[in-house]
Amino acid sequence: MAIATVSPVTGETLKTFPPLTTAELEEKLTLAEAAFRSYRRTTFAERGAWLRRAAEILDAKRDEYGRLMTTEMGKTLKSAIAEVQKCALVCRYYADNAAIFLADQPATSDASTSFVRYQPLGIVLAVMPWNFPFWQVFRFAAPALMAGNVGLLKHASNVPQCALAIEQVFQAAGFPANVFQTLLIPASAVETVIHDPRVQAATLTGSETAGMSLAAAAGRQLKKVVLELGGSDPFIVLSSADLDAAATAAVTARMLNNGQSCIAAKRFILVASIADAFIEKLVAQFSALKLGDPLDAATDIGPLATTAIRDELAAQVEQLVAQGAKRLLGGQPMAGMSNFYPPTILTGIDPDWPEAREELFGPVAMVFRVPNLDAAIALANDTPFGLGASAWTQDPAERDRCVAELEAGAVFINGLVKSDPRLPFGGIKRSGYGRELSREGILEFINVKTVWIA
Ligand code: NAP
Repeated sequence: MAIATVSPVTGETLKTFPPLTTAELEEKLTLAEAAFRSYRRTTFAERGAWLRRAAEILDAKRDEYGRLMTTEMGKTLKSAIAEVQKCALVCRYYADNAAIFLADQPATSDASTSFVRYQPLGIVLAVMPWNFPFWQVFRFAAPALMAGNVGLLKHASNVPQCALAIEQVFQAAGFPANVFQTLLIPASAVETVIHDPRVQAATLTGSETAGMSLAAAAGRQLKKVVLELGGSDPFIVLSSADLDAAATAAVTARMLNNGQSCIAAKRFILVASIADAFIEKLVAQFSALKLGDPLDAATDIGPLATTAIRDELAAQVEQLVAQGAKRLLGGQPMAGMSNFYPPTILTGIDPDWPEAREELFGPVAMVFRVPNLDAAIALANDTPFGLGASAWTQDPAERDRCVAELEAGAVFINGLVKSDPRLPFGGIKRSGYGRELSREGILEFINVKTVWIA
């Protein structure tokens, strides 16, 4: 895929970027290694001051960066601006907390003194997706840089201007030169970078295919990897649920980011007693959403990021329909409207169809009816993925069973699944491994050093 900004609204190529040459890539690796040697000796106070400055820059330029994201990948401007503000939040969170998370931990042993010290690993490669072009990068970079690591960003090929703008934020914030560098390289060059002995570890957020490829390459070099991959999160509605609250949350949970979120609710699992009432509310609310120019403040849903994503989603829906699924709403690309795909609700799906087990990366809700809680939990878990799960109930016993039995990296009761700097984020099964955010996130790229003194 060319490294380029292509308007998701018009399909026009707005700007292209040549990939780094082999010599340019080598130079950036050399600079990163040199930067780590001195950066690792900086204090938490110094790093925290630079990261707070980065947060101020993000706040001050939120409209500019928001517009850049909207231009490159089509999310609504209001959601893009909110994303920039969330990046400032994660910067401040780690500026405030990294020294606490990484303070020496005393330990009792047969030594006169023993403790655990947390030290940086070195150069960490971050391979990131386009769907939250700023947030995905900052949730990696804020803890990694506070820990004393240096970062190399290989961003998705359709958001190069976001990638360069983020590098600029860290430079302008006063971080030492080359502590965070953007590499404009194609996916095919990732293996070269992870094989380089100067690179210690990698994190990838993206598809299963990309995750497997990076993990295999890193495995051959015995390097640590964190993987944040896809999901097909269940959204379970039980008989005691507040149906209005659940339906309103369901719309946001499915439509966030024009439906292109890993933690979007993708499978709506409804117990029979409330299914008809809930579906009626869902249809009404989906129908009311306004599609249009993502720069327009009145728009709820913009275009999908690329033509390829629209085509793949359309093909998945067609396959489901060909097998017998019913289109309750939408379900076909919008003629003459570039990458737009309408809010869609599908029912009558057999959970065993292969397509029902895939991730639908767009505004399409698969709705399933089940007789009871047992069946709801069984269906929720019957997926290759294990990222998030949302369950709606007023019954404490049902709540406790959902918390205990849902196979996911996060369970939200009476709320939609969301990321929060204060809470760990990550998946199980084919959704990946490792965690981001909170204390768990900063510990991923750390040498947990045991110190024993006789
Ligand atoms: P993608 O194609 O896997 O792209 C993600 C990144 O990986 C891009 O930088 C891409 O570069 C790179 N890449 C692609 N193939 C690669 C390979 N073989 N080796 C190394 N790097 C490779 O993912 P996407 O389709 O753009 O993003 C959507 C997916 O990401 C969905 O499955 C979604 O659920 C998942 N996601 C997960 C999370 C999470 O936190 N769990 C968050 C957001 C998204 P190019 O752009 O140059 O191809």
